[in-house]
Amino acid sequence: MNILVANLGSTSFKFRLFRFDSAGEAVLVAKGGYERVTDYGQAIDDCLAELKSRGHVRAAADVHAVGFKTVLGKNLTGCLRADTDERVIVALEEFREIAPAHNPPYALGIRRFREKLPGVPLVALFETAFYQWMPEAATRYAVPAAWHEAGVRRYGFHGASHKFVAERSAELLGRAEVAERVRTLYRAGPASLAVGAGLAVKPLRVISCHLGGSSSVTGIRDGVAIGTSMGLSPQSGLPQNNRVGDLDSAAVPFVMKTLGLSLAEVERQMTKESGLLGLSGVGNDLRDIRAAAEQGNGRAQLALAVFVHSVRHWLGAFLLELGGCDALVFTAGIGENNPDVRAAICADLADLGLLLDADKNSALRGTEGEISAVGSPARIFVIPANEELVVARETVRCLAA
Ligand code: AMP
Repeated sequence: MNILVANLGSTSFKFRLFRFDSAGEAVLVAKGGYERVTDYGQAIDDCLAELKSRGHVRAAADVHAVGFKTVLGKNLTGCLRADTDERVIVALEEFREIAPAHNPPYALGIRRFREKLPGVPLVALFETAFYQWMPEAATRYAVPAAWHEAGVRRYGFHGASHKFVAERSAELLGRAEVAERVRTLYRAGPASLAVGAGLAVKPLRVISCHLGGSSSVTGIRDGVAIGTSMGLSPQSGLPQNNRVGDLDSAAVPFVMKTLGLSLAEVERQMTKESGLLGLSGVGNDLRDIRAAAEQGNGRAQLALAVFVHSVRHWLGAFLLELGGCDALVFTAGIGENNPDVRAAICADLADLGLLLDADKNSALRGTEGEISAVGSPARIFVIPANEELVVARETVRCLAA
């Protein structure tokens, strides 16, 4: 079975083709993409022509389904058919203001796929899907009821990545029943969690740090998210590459009044000139910031310190909410490749059960492995992110259901 995963940006179209064998194992057979895209219909044609010329498919009919990592929709989440369920596009469009860089491209792209590949199943995996069972107290903002009814609440993002961590960490810890629960979560719901052998006896507590161009920390109990650092939009939580992260809401009217900025300009600066870029003044890539920090640039050093402080803030929150943790996991570009950032996050946590092995940590970059010291009560892992594979797997599960 061939599953195409389409990653749509406002001017980009990236794709991966996965092939599933009869045992459900997936192989990545092709990946590619186009920049400066003005017409998704053309990009879909180009993608199919490229897959044909490279010998991966003979005809469009050899693409058995297309999966999309949609961000969020109004009153809708989970893993859903986007070709037959009209609610998907409606929900994306109703929340275009919350994710302006993502929702309009996905709504348009899904429409174009429907036209270009009629009859081919299209599946949307919402980034918010992993958070649909968070306790209500973890999702509510203290806003007037009308704001809440309009959709102002904590949703959480990077759901595909954190779900992958939930499944893989359970495997690494020998908790096959939790890994299986995570695999079936979007089909069976959390009710399946109550019946697993041993689950009630010893809950599995994992804290997942997705640290990359966009970052979030999520607390996971028995494979289900109980809280996360991102809120209404992916602008929130930790300082992002050039997006602001959490900010006191009073800052917006304050800078509008005192600096004479328009709302549009404040929005632009919060999404394009803030985060690690705004803090460091050097750039939005952690490699550049680290290089500047090593050369003594004070703003770059501060940007790193703020980032680490923010991760530890959320780590502390979930250590408390979960009553400890069995595993701390680092994933995504920064989490996988920056031992110094991991070491700073884990500094002086031995009394809380987290003891890093300095040598294992410095040696591990970009691959899966354990970096906790022998005897550390909680284990510490690096698990490379594979969000497209999660989309492909959930697409297959959605079709099988
Ligand atoms: P992502 O959004 O997951 O692709 O992560 C992007 C971030 O990861 C950037 O800030 C990069 O600096 C960082 N990153 C990616 N690859 C490396 C690497 N090989 N070494 C250090 N940092 C990296």
